[in-house]
Amino acid sequence: MIKVTNIYKRFKQFEALKGVSLEVSKGEVVAIIGPSGSGKSTFLRCLNRLEIIDQGTIEIEGDTLASTDPEGRVQYANETQARLICRKMGMVFQQFNLFPHLTVLQNVVEAPMTVKGVKYAEILPVAKELLRKVGLEDKMENYPSRLSGGQKQRVAIARALAMKPDIMLFDEPTSALDPELTGEVLKAMRQLAEEHMTMIVVTHEMGFAREVANRVVFMDKGEVIEEGSPKEIFDQPSQQRTQSFLNAVAK
Ligand code: ADP
Ligand code: MG
Repeated sequence: MIKVTNIYKRFKQFEALKGVSLEVSKGEVVAIIGPSGSGKSTFLRCLNRLEIIDQGTIEIEGDTLASTDPEGRVQYANETQARLICRKMGMVFQQFNLFPHLTVLQNVVEAPMTVKGVKYAEILPVAKELLRKVGLEDKMENYPSRLSGGQKQRVAIARALAMKPDIMLFDEPTSALDPELTGEVLKAMRQLAEEHMTMIVVTHEMGFAREVANRVVFMDKGEVIEEGSPKEIFDQPSQQRTQSFLNAVAK
């Protein structure tokens, strides 16, 4: 589903990603954990072209988004292709990025209508069903400012799903939420995982990573330090750096 090989990303002199590789199969839930600044967000942003890589290869469902020729030059798919490839991925950010001037329902139907040209009558039942699934059918006519953080984030999830992505990318979706609101968002994500959505979730929620992820990837300083089943990573990490990180977050 996703095959990333040896990607590098530099910001001026600073190397945010130093040769990261990751493969994700259909229906897999991969959690990425690691200290702040380790390149987790940058990695997700490279996947959907919010950042342009300096080296490496990114393939999404067999289509090449970016590759590197033998001379080390990065080639991206042309604009049209790249858009189509990236449209297969929905992304949910820490900050919900809802349109404040649109209602909940309008937020959900907006992208399918403007980006894909789907008719309102066609997307309306889909949007209602998605909002029902995330428990917000009674908030459809509300504006985002009237919602709690947890509700906003669930709208953001419904909005991403309205584009019918094959893959969902989550970047610390609960980090901006009060602790009592994280549960409702994690529940929506857990439900998606149970429906076998392919997901990459950058998270500080170790409980969620342990219970829901099929695989856990630990990143530090722009590199994947180790990856394995939740049991392997949480119960017997092989790397000292993983151990120290887990000790630090457990406190
Ligand atoms: P994480 O999500 O793991 O906390 P990030 O991917 O956000 O880490 O950042 C990795 C490193 O790259 C950090 O040191 C960060 O300061 C740097 N970085 C990220 N984005 C930019 C940018 N647009 N310009 C300069 N440095 C950046
Ligand atoms: Mg981040």
